[in-house]
Amino acid sequence: MKKTILLAKIEHKLELYVPFGILILAGELRKNGYNVILYHGNLKEFYKKFDEIDKQDLNFVGFSTMTGPQLRPTISASEYVKSSNIKVIWGGIHATILPEVCLKEKCVDYVVLGYAEGQIKNIANILAKEESLEEHPGVGYVGKNNEIIISDEILFETNVDEFLPALDMIDLKPYYQKMEDSVRVLPMISSRGCPFACGFCYNQAVNSGKWVGYSDDKVLQLVDYLKEEYKIDGIYFHDDNFFTKVGRAQNIIKSIDLPWFAEMRANLLTQEFVSFLEQTRCRKVFIGAETGSPEVMKDIGKGIGVRDVENAVIRLKDSDIHTELSFIIGFPDETQKQMEETMGFIDHLDRIGHNRLRCAVKVYNPQPNTPLWERALENGMEPPETNEGWSDFSRNKCFLVNKHTKTIEDISKIHYYMVYFPFLKLEKWRWEKRYFKHTYDVKIIDRVYKYLTETKKGVEIKRKLKPLIKLLRKKGF
Ligand code: SF4
Repeated sequence: MKKTILLAKIEHKLELYVPFGILILAGELRKNGYNVILYHGNLKEFYKKFDEIDKQDLNFVGFSTMTGPQLRPTISASEYVKSSNIKVIWGGIHATILPEVCLKEKCVDYVVLGYAEGQIKNIANILAKEESLEEHPGVGYVGKNNEIIISDEILFETNVDEFLPALDMIDLKPYYQKMEDSVRVLPMISSRGCPFACGFCYNQAVNSGKWVGYSDDKVLQLVDYLKEEYKIDGIYFHDDNFFTKVGRAQNIIKSIDLPWFAEMRANLLTQEFVSFLEQTRCRKVFIGAETGSPEVMKDIGKGIGVRDVENAVIRLKDSDIHTELSFIIGFPDETQKQMEETMGFIDHLDRIGHNRLRCAVKVYNPQPNTPLWERALENGMEPPETNEGWSDFSRNKCFLVNKHTKTIEDISKIHYYMVYFPFLKLEKWRWEKRYFKHTYDVKIIDRVYKYLTETKKGVEIKRKLKPLIKLLRKKGF
């Protein structure tokens, strides 16, 4: 029986985010006697890691997949594994949303849909006996006549307390984030899913409106581990919707005794709730504000109003809590006037909010089986047929093909550069004048930015430039 399993997440850039998905699976496999090897990093190091492993005992290699640029190195890594005649399984959000596309890769033997921790032991046992997963719930594969067969079931584990991430199997120091005054912040995912049905969100496609969370005790157990082992000075609750059960989330917060950061819906921020945030060392809130157009807000089914966002900003104004609002432009059928309403709303919030308020403008990304998907297709979305095509998926790229496509992409970038690099005066001028034509400057800044964030040398230069950028900001440039 082959008892070794390699679980991997391949990245295309240098910044790393704790791979909770494979850590949960690793914990469960280890409990059941498997020798689990974890890999999280770039393609080059993956090859080295794989070469070191004894293939005689290797049961399978599982890759965690996300739709976007990380797919390219994941395909190369999978091909490399397959060339040694080892079984390859793809899981994660991309495999769940686009299983047919994933199975077009000759190197992928199976896809697993949804959350596999409750089934991973069975999957490993079946493969260890060199049997097939064809009848297994939540699995997709290519049949004997080359037909793609996908299970109707998306796995969703409800008994999550049994499946904690094996945090001890990974060195978490490379994952420290600097957030506001804290320098050793680590993320935590205490729940998954969300009962809301925002038209653009992957949650409906993957979780069908379900939500499940670890019990308070288990969350605190994980936080205590991070405090003890890593001396964290902040924790970032990165759940889909941490405040789905407000009482549960508040109980957790009251017990952690740490600066904390979390995403939340705007309508949660009553005056009383803001007082709770202040009393419990909340340092920053992330709010999906989405749009400045009341019509679009209704259309995307967010379940809040534009005024809820405005009220949240007003109520946070007298606190010292940093606030980040994310907006989306380029929704199906969104008119130029509605986009301008969003830009105007951002300017309005910047005027009325405190100086710790930041807005971000992202581009709408259509995903299959989400509520807005059909309308995205009607609006010129041409779904890529390959994983290579889906690798271009990003929050800066517009997949709807219409006369606004290029402008939408430029608006998002110009706003970002204006906010984070205020000395780029041309971008500020562009935003204020709403002038988004002839954007050669944006192309150049884009290239430099990519170099500074995606190459080792560039990241080093960026680190050295940080004090200078800080000084320029301070001097009002
Ligand atoms: S955008 Fe947020 S609130 Fe809306 S469905 Fe997704 S996770 Fe839930």
